[in-house]
Amino acid sequence: MTASVADPSLADLTRAELGELLDGEPSYRLDQVWDGLYRQRRPLAELTNVPKGLRQAVGELLPPALKLVRAQTADRGKTRKYLWSLRDGHLVETVLMGYRNRTTLCISSQAGCAMACSFCASGQVGFDRNLSVGEIVEQVLGTLQQPSTSHSGAINSGAARGGAMNIVFMGMGEPFANYDAVWAAVERFHGDMGIGARHITVSTVGVIPGIVRLAAASLPVNLAVSLHAANDRLRNRIAPINRTYPLRDLASALADYRRAKRRRISFEWAMIDGVNDRDHDAAELAAYARPLAAHVNLIPLNPTPGYGHAPSPSGRIEQFASELGSHGVNATVRVNRGTSIDAACGQLRADKLVTIQRGARARRGARAQRER
Ligand code: SAH
Repeated sequence: MTASVADPSLADLTRAELGELLDGEPSYRLDQVWDGLYRQRRPLAELTNVPKGLRQAVGELLPPALKLVRAQTADRGKTRKYLWSLRDGHLVETVLMGYRNRTTLCISSQAGCAMACSFCASGQVGFDRNLSVGEIVEQVLGTLQQPSTSHSGAINSGAARGGAMNIVFMGMGEPFANYDAVWAAVERFHGDMGIGARHITVSTVGVIPGIVRLAAASLPVNLAVSLHAANDRLRNRIAPINRTYPLRDLASALADYRRAKRRRISFEWAMIDGVNDRDHDAAELAAYARPLAAHVNLIPLNPTPGYGHAPSPSGRIEQFASELGSHGVNATVRVNRGTSIDAACGQLRADKLVTIQRGARARRGARAQRER
């Protein structure tokens, strides 16, 4: 019998739930399994200190939710994208970025996205469903268990050898539209895998109820808000959720959040040529960001098929950053990673495997033609 989406995977279970399942086993068994999975980050099948029969029984009862469909590499091996299929055939993606002394894992919280931001590939595809806790957690475990992650030079320097690992909810989906599962995953990363709250970032398009909940939450994770426009007229167009949660209300929720958490907020701003990259846009952004003492990350737009605008030229981005600076707001210009494999911000759109296969066939065809 094959497992359906409704059946839990091992990573869906809390420690207490696994404890109930292992009732009747010696009490150290739970520690062995839990530490093996989350501290040592090893697959169940490899936990050789646990009897094989038990591993098999647990594995059959709680099979993985994710199956690796494809792994791709860019930036000379420093960026990797993993495409996973879920039990119901939906696809999600995870991106791993290796830096000198840290690794950043960009994970998805939903299959597709309902926020419909005009320039974002996931938004263009639409919403399939929320991911479960297990589906979120397995993205991290599965990625760390890839042979290329643990053995390759660049990426090895980070996560696998115990260097700092950052987890960012900047893949597909709106994390605050799936708050409970996202938060249970955050607690697993923090409490069980030992990843510091400051190494975990939740990125939202500005879903206020989520910001309110995060302000009351126990762990001081980082909050990033995808702003892209600092007036309602433009933001309504770029990020339609702004009609529900307009800029004024967003600012007041963020001010409350800051008071409660005393944590720096960051704003994400995709630099779109002629749309939100002029000096007066910078002045408007600065006026919005300064009272909130927010830091701004400028991301050159990644062109997507459904959006007719171009990224701002790099000179414009520099000018925009210095304009912000002159208004007392700090900004960082982000370097795009993984554009060649569509792994850059907002390019994750694992909509249909057929599309991908068709794409691969077309590329093979084109190559064959060139070679002819
Ligand atoms: N829904 C969440 C998280 C996913 S998007 C959010 O909106 O924050 C992660 C980041 O990538 C967001 O800042 C988003 O605005 C940005 N992004 C999406 N599409 C992009 C594109 N085509 N170019 C540049 N950044 C993009």
